[in-house]
Amino acid sequence: MSEVIHVFKFKKFGWRMLEFEIPDTWELSVDAKREDFAYFRLDHVYPRLEVKWEKISKKKPPSLKTSVNEYLKEMQKRAKKSGYEYKVINIREVKVMKHPALSFYVRSTGETLGACWCCPDTERLILFQLVFKREEYPQMYSVFQKILQTMRCHKEGPWLWYFYGFYIRIPESYSLTNYKFTPGFSKAFFKKGDVGLIVAYHTVANVVLDEYGDVDNWFTRVCKPQILENLGALKFLGVHNVMINGHEGREFVYASRFSLFKRLKVLSYSWLCEKLNRLLNVTFYFPQKMERVLRGEIDDILDSSRCH
Ligand SMILES: [Zn+2]
Ligand SMILES: [Zn+2]
Repeated sequence: MSEVIHVFKFKKFGWRMLEFEIPDTWELSVDAKREDFAYFRLDHVYPRLEVKWEKISKKKPPSLKTSVNEYLKEMQKRAKKSGYEYKVINIREVKVMKHPALSFYVRSTGETLGACWCCPDTERLILFQLVFKREEYPQMYSVFQKILQTMRCHKEGPWLWYFYGFYIRIPESYSLTNYKFTPGFSKAFFKKGDVGLIVAYHTVANVVLDEYGDVDNWFTRVCKPQILENLGALKFLGVHNVMINGHEGREFVYASRFSLFKRLKVLSYSWLCEKLNRLLNVTFYFPQKMERVLRGEIDDILDSSRCH
């Protein structure tokens, strides 16, 4: 019987200032971030792809060769400790965008195929690796090539963020401060100084709407209490119909007297995507006096959202 080689369908992925394509069944499963370091992992049944980056100095970038050798030495140490074989099959020079990179292919507990490079534009040392079984090499090599070819480590304009099927582009000046992903209601909080941006969604929208009736009710009874709870008492200023990428959506407007000196305005957009079967929400809050300067940015972020 001849073996069927599974050909992947790819999708765009974006997370923590990296964008690339991955097989469309792979999803984010682990995420860690410190001031100058990020790590995330994508799984499908098993762990498939690990990505990490650390901040480096543009003036004194580390040697790529040394960085890769040190990384592989660690891998070798771990293999030795657990009594596994360790063999470097190859190390090659490749390119990521315009940057020189080193790829490595190692055989140990499993097969590891990865690449490492410096991005001076964003001052980061970046490394990704695929982990797989030996017989998966042909498919995984095509995934490796796809990631190398589609990788964006620096760019003009906002970064793509992928929330399990929902895409939105957010300027680099915003940082992800907190999030909670669940099989039901999920939320992610971004901050840029006094400006807040919240992305939230609810899966199985048909079931949720059976209970709550419509988008307005879902927003005020389910979503709002979970995303705006820290903003103090909110004064309702109005609700309007808006079009959001071909969806009829609702804009809720509130004001909050957060403190004596800080008056916040809240603009919250909700809509139902029947194709994705999700209720979606994008919310902005900011000091009232900033509304004029922020208007363009708010519209751009909202326009960049893609639910199906
Ligand atoms: Zn770069
Ligand atoms: Zn949609």
